[in-house]
Amino acid sequence: MEYSILADSFFKMESTTKRLELTKILVELFEKTPHEVISKIVYLLQGKLRPDFEGIELGVAEKLAIRAISKSSGIPIKKIEEEYRKGGDIGHAASIILEQKTQTTFLVEDITVERVYETLLKISKSEGSRSQDMKMKYISSLLNDATPLEAIYILKILLGTLRLGIAENTVMDALAVAFSGNKDNRKILEHAYNVSSDLGKVAETIATKGIAGIEEFEIILFNPIRPMLADRVKSEQEAIERLGNEFAAEYKLDGERVQIHVEEEKVALFSRSLENISSYYPDIIEKIPKAIQADNAILEAEIVAVNENTGEFLPFQELMHRRRKYKIEKAVSQYPITVNFFDVLFSNEKSCLELSYAQRREKLEKIVKEDDFARYIPMEIVRNENEIEDFLENSINAGSEGLMLKQLDKPYQAGSRGSYWLKLKREYQNKLGDSLDLVVVGGFFGKGRRTGNYGTLLLATYDEDEDVFTSICKVGTGFSDESLDQLYQILNPKVTIKKNPRIISEMEADVWFEPELVIEVVASEITLSPIHKAARDKIRKGAGLALRFPKFTGKIRVEKTAEDASTNEEMITLYKGQKKVAHDKNLI
Ligand code: ATP
Repeated sequence: MEYSILADSFFKMESTTKRLELTKILVELFEKTPHEVISKIVYLLQGKLRPDFEGIELGVAEKLAIRAISKSSGIPIKKIEEEYRKGGDIGHAASIILEQKTQTTFLVEDITVERVYETLLKISKSEGSRSQDMKMKYISSLLNDATPLEAIYILKILLGTLRLGIAENTVMDALAVAFSGNKDNRKILEHAYNVSSDLGKVAETIATKGIAGIEEFEIILFNPIRPMLADRVKSEQEAIERLGNEFAAEYKLDGERVQIHVEEEKVALFSRSLENISSYYPDIIEKIPKAIQADNAILEAEIVAVNENTGEFLPFQELMHRRRKYKIEKAVSQYPITVNFFDVLFSNEKSCLELSYAQRREKLEKIVKEDDFARYIPMEIVRNENEIEDFLENSINAGSEGLMLKQLDKPYQAGSRGSYWLKLKREYQNKLGDSLDLVVVGGFFGKGRRTGNYGTLLLATYDEDEDVFTSICKVGTGFSDESLDQLYQILNPKVTIKKNPRIISEMEADVWFEPELVIEVVASEITLSPIHKAARDKIRKGAGLALRFPKFTGKIRVEKTAEDASTNEEMITLYKGQKKVAHDKNLI
């Protein structure tokens, strides 16, 4: 397939943020795409080469790209850098440079999607001392044959700056329309995506086998399943209202959620945001196969740091010591853990998602043999407020955050935050209820002691309907000197020249970031705001929601993606809940 078709679509998509229009452009593109390249197109659209969980990084630096442009155009590096500074985007600088190319190539080949894809894959795999030269050779060979427009999008993918603002749901809408003529089939596609986390594979399946193929789509061992999430409740009473008079309560441990895929000695670990985290936990990789009594399985557990002497649970932050590339053996012995199992999603070649919670728990206890390292999360069946309160007390005393409450007769809903699982934390029982996970979208330079750091951050919630990030507050308290430095290190590479179109804010920040990092904040309450954009017009026309007295808790939520942040729906529920409490107490 000619790469120019894809480049034209990229160009059209970049000039709109409207979801309907994006879908239309995608449908046209998919209709022109031969089946054998559809998965590649879907990855490229998201600026990727393979699904995220494979962890393939292109890793091309700006400097190298500029050298490659110089090599293929014969124009000096200085001139290209000048052009880049003027426009702020290497892709566009390259297209201007290529227009004025001084070198003529004699044999210009049309470039195809396949060729671009294979070359990018080779670039991502080049390693070792000569890798920089090899990468440059690959890039300049593509640029030699590329038109200026094609060059823009080759470079944007290479540098990781292609941001078309298309959400996975939009891609699925377009796949449903293009290959089944009916947008409502998106729901079936979603299921396939939820169990495989691989949109390319889903696209290939519907293109080659139609909707019937998607209906038969099955879990693939070593492809992570998108996790089921919980809704929050504020009180025991609310839990009973929502779950009925008999349900399971489990400790809500404060650790890292892990999905463990195991077949004989082969083990892979995926985080809550589906990153492969196997290298941080060599102890799990070594010990878990011995605890599993099945040919193969996919299990969920919470990894918790423990005090070696007392066996007590330690807070989530302790696990951060494991997130390192080198000397992991030392971290393993210094920061011991236990693996606390709470679910089974697949065993002996069969999906367990359709089984009820009670059946899955029973199966789990058959599959996992408990020892000091592998344990089941403590669980009890509860029937009334007192029993919940009692178990909550035990759970908090054991060092956990609260309880997870789960309906006994319900299946596992991959990829959704439903009402079959609820979480009850002690801290919810204050006025606002919960801490919030917000996306860092902008920064303001610090003064005094904070000079050289971002003293204040602009935070946003996730708007699921529009797939955008809406401003909700500025936060400037709760930071230690250490956390300010740490945040600066993480945020600096995310600085963009222009505000990402997915950020909705009236406030002007000193710098804008790619909306990627999630941090945890607490606040005294939610108020209406004329400036902020969260849930704008939803409660009152012309007003959004804002946080009063927000404070950073010190938790950087590395395991969450921006789309996992607190949503506007949640904010509206919290706002209404807060009003109700005030009303009940005759405060308003
Ligand atoms: P939070 O910010 O409260 O950790 P979350 O958005 O990461 O929530 P939720 O599904 O809302 O995810 O809350 C459940 C989280 O709690 C899981 O992601 C998991 O890490 C953790 N957890 C601890 N114990 C359990 C348990 N028994 N069952 C399920 N999840 C548990």
